Amino acid sequence: MKRNIAILGSTGSIGTQALDIVREHPDHFEIYALTANENVDLLIQQAREFNPEVVVITNDAKYDQLKEALSDLPIKVWAGSDSIAQVVQSEPIQMVLTAMVGYSGLKPTINAIKAGKAIALANKETLVVAGELITTLAIENKVPILPVDSEHSAIFQCLTGERAPIEKIILTASGGPFREHNLDQLKKVTKREALKHPNWDMGAKVTIDSASLMNKGLEMIEAKWLFDVTPDQIEVVVHPQSIIHSMVQFEDSSIIAQLGLPDMHLPIQYALAYPERLKSNFERLDFFKLKSMTFEKPDTDRFRNLAFAFEAARKKGNMACIMNAANEIAVEAFLKDRVGFLEMSEVIEKTMQKACYIQTPCYDDYVQSDMEARSIAREFIN
Ligand code: MG
Repeated sequence: MKRNIAILGSTGSIGTQALDIVREHPDHFEIYALTANENVDLLIQQAREFNPEVVVITNDAKYDQLKEALSDLPIKVWAGSDSIAQVVQSEPIQMVLTAMVGYSGLKPTINAIKAGKAIALANKETLVVAGELITTLAIENKVPILPVDSEHSAIFQCLTGERAPIEKIILTASGGPFREHNLDQLKKVTKREALKHPNWDMGAKVTIDSASLMNKGLEMIEAKWLFDVTPDQIEVVVHPQSIIHSMVQFEDSSIIAQLGLPDMHLPIQYALAYPERLKSNFERLDFFKLKSMTFEKPDTDRFRNLAFAFEAARKKGNMACIMNAANEIAVEAFLKDRVGFLEMSEVIEKTMQKACYIQTPCYDDYVQSDMEARSIAREFIN
């Protein structure tokens, strides 16, 4: 039987790669809904190819263009972020791939879980902001959360069939394009340089986060929630070749790793097809070409965001929500040349100090904290 899927953020990097997989395996997957923020032209093209029941464009201003372009097809056309939060609850959907960027992923993910849909989670900010809420809801609704992030997919694969407790998660990091830059060089980094990742081809937000190691910080928090470990059980190891996608160490000292060439198609396909493994034509790893793999300790004096993430994870409550909001604003400002590369960390640090800390937040507290932290971060930037 085909799996009926909704892809939130279908025109982004993860969304388009997910559709590559659906195109390759038409006997396994059916597209029920596609949603996009802004990119109406690509959404039209995707809708014509995959013939979903519903398409949603977040930006209302683009609704007429979308509606008009699909008027000869029986596809429902909706607009606005409320429509996205609504469409995920549609009865025929079995799995929701959350591939939109940032905090906006939270509400639709909550609704999809409450409606009993399996979640293929590509929006790491959802767990960073409200990990406790999401994991509790998933357990209550007996909904599996299948990680799409390559590291978490690796950890998930390492744990398949294991019942033993985790001693330690070894979260690998490429180190980004500025791994060898000193502080002086980091200060002068431009957005063009930061947008060039050595190994992975990704969207702008996650590419900047990778360069600043915030991505690894967000992933550490994501791992903490997905695999129910403490921050102190997660060790970040810089592995510039990005071949080992992460590892799990058990209490008998054994370490299990998942390896492969850096290509997001694999973790996306694994989540969409889970528990099956579908045949693929992805390029195979050749050890003789690879020759060596290296490892180093991350430097949190140069890449302070990683230290902030550990601090936020240990503090718990709404601290990671605050950090995430400040980071989203800082990255946006960096992409508009309004702050320098190192200044992003200052914005995050100051926002974490100033925003209101809540020990046991409910959903409305997260919404409030997110707004507060964004406005504090904007003030610092101005
Ligand atoms: Mg990743």
